[in-house]
Parts: sequence; C-alpha cells; structure tokens
Amino acid sequence: MFEIRQVVTPESVEDAFSALMANRNNRILGGCAFLKMGQKLINQGISLEKLELDFIRQQDGWIDIGAACTYGQLSDNALIQAYADGVIVKALQPIVGVQLRNRVQVGASVFSRYGFSDFLPVLLALGAEVTLHQGGRMPLETFLEQPLTRDVLLAVHLPDRPQTAACQSLRYTASDLPVVNCAVARDEVSRSWRIAIGARPGRAQLVPAASSLLTGKALSEAAIQHVLEAIALLTFGSNARASADYRQAMAKVLAQRAIQEVASC
Ligand SMILES: Cc1cc2nc3c(=O)[nH]c(=O)nc-3n(C[C@H](O)[C@H](O)[C@H](O)COP(=O)(O)OP(=O)(O)OC[C@H]3O[C@@H](n4cnc5c(N)ncnc54)[C@H](O)[C@@H]3O)c2cc1C
Repeated sequence: MFEIRQVVTPESVEDAFSALMANRNNRILGGCAFLKMGQKLINQGISLEKLELDFIRQQDGWIDIGAACTYGQLSDNALIQAYADGVIVKALQPIVGVQLRNRVQVGASVFSRYGFSDFLPVLLALGAEVTLHQGGRMPLETFLEQPLTRDVLLAVHLPDRPQTAACQSLRYTASDLPVVNCAVARDEVSRSWRIAIGARPGRAQLVPAASSLLTGKALSEAAIQHVLEAIALLTFGSNARASADYRQAMAKVLAQRAIQEVASC
C-alpha cells in the first residue's frame, strides 16, 4: 500500500504542473488503483478533481476525452459506444471488473504507457492524439516513442470520422492481464488500415507496413499473409506469462481474426 503525506487540489493545470515539479516524490493522482499496488511514499498527491477533466465531447472533427474520465464513463457514453463499432468499449470490457473500470482513469492509463494495456492498441489503431500540459498535442504513437518526462496528460482525442474496427486479446483466464493483444481499424473515408499489437510484452506498437500492404487493395489471403509476416518482425519478449515465440504466433492469429472481422463489415 502506498502512503501520501499530503493531498493538494490545484485550481489550474499550471498549479498542478508546478506542484508536480516541486518535488520528485510528488505524484498526479488518477483513480489510484495502480498507485495503491505499490509501496511508494508520496510526498504530495496532486488531485486533478477541480480541473473539470472528466468530459467527453464532440468538436472540430474530434471526440475529446478528458484525462479524468474513467473507463466506466467511456463504456457508458453513447458517443463512445457508437464510435468505430464500439471497439473501445469492447477493448476495456475484459479489464478486471466493473468496480475497477469505474475507478481507473484515461489520463493515468495512457500517460503510464503500460505494456499490458488493452487501451493503447485500440487508441493507436484508431489514430488517437494526446494533449499534455508541457508537451502539447501530438499523435499517440509519437508520445509512446518519447522518453518518459514529468508532465500532466490532459486529454485524448479520437478522429471523428467513420472507422470500422475490431480488437482481440488473449488471456489465460478472464480478468487476467493480456498475454498479447491486437486492434485493427479501417478508415472508411480513406480506406486506410492501421494495426497495433500490444502486450508484446513491451508497449503497444503500430505495424509499420500494415497500411501500405492493405490500403486500396482487395483483401486477399496473400495480402493478409504479408501483414502477418510484418507482425512477426515486431519485437516480442518473454516473461513469466509467455515466451516471445508464443506471443509472436498468437499475435498473428489475433491479427488475422481482427482483420477478417473488419473486412466482413
Ligand atoms: C489489479 C489491476 C489489474 C489491471 N489489469 C489491467 C488489464 O488487464 N488491462 C489493462 O489495460 N489495464 C489493467 N490495469 C491498469 C488499469 O487499467 C489502469 O490503466 C491503471 O490502474 C492506471 O489507472 P489509475 O487511474 O489507477 O492510475 P493511478 O494509479 O492513479 O496512477 C498511475 C500513474 O499515472 C500517473 N498519472 C495519473 N494521472 C495522470 C495524468 N493525468 N497525467 C500524468 N500522469 C498521471 C500517476 O502519477 C501514476 O504514476 C489493471 C490495474 C490494476 C490495479
């Protein structure tokens, strides 16, 4: 269990960031479900509750999701349920249970870049962007490639255009962490494809060649095979949960299923 010496509730993002930078043992507080699993002694816990970051709104061609939204809010929201065949709701559904999903927050989950994340692959496939207080706005894939810095994640943005999407994850038991997962999306305007593989066990990554292999082409068995070969070139690792070879083989199976699901729509 963690311990917090003092909790502060800044009135502005600038004040929250200043508090974060004031001491290396100060931490932004999300839903605290993950922090609670550690033994950390936190000097100042910085609650973002006064910053009104729990919005989900449609504007200027994007769906903006505030950092303080919980997975539960996302799953119950009509915009998110209708977006890209409800793929976000489907991706979050296997995460533990309703109580945890009603607690954990979007900003914490994206900023922490967990390798096991079920959220990041689907956001990557959908072409999401993120806004950070210091770092500004950028594509999610750019943020995931950057070195870890101290910052406050303010929002996640989904492109508000029609997409067909599917996600798959492999778990040994329901509510366990994923062994490997995958998300596939096809933009229905440009007909371009994006495929992301997560829990490799490293953090989620887009399959670089997927778009050029599938976009604008008839979806043949040969084209899918080429994508699966591109997936095999990603780096997979071994840990207590699975070997790299097993993850690589299962990533290809999950991707094939997800591609076929999208193609059948
Ligand atoms: C038992 C358990 C099982 C889980 N299983 C899964 C799973 O199967 N699949 C899956 O995808 N996820 C899983 N998760 C992770 C979960 O989905 C959340 O991603 C995770 O708990 C972080 O959310 P939180 O609100 O609890 O963050 P917190 O514990 O509050 O914070 C986590 C970190 O993020 C920082 N932080 C918080 N908010 C911000 C912000 N706005 N900007 C910058 N930094 C911030 C905190 O300082 C901290 O370092 C699991 C978590 C738990 C506890």
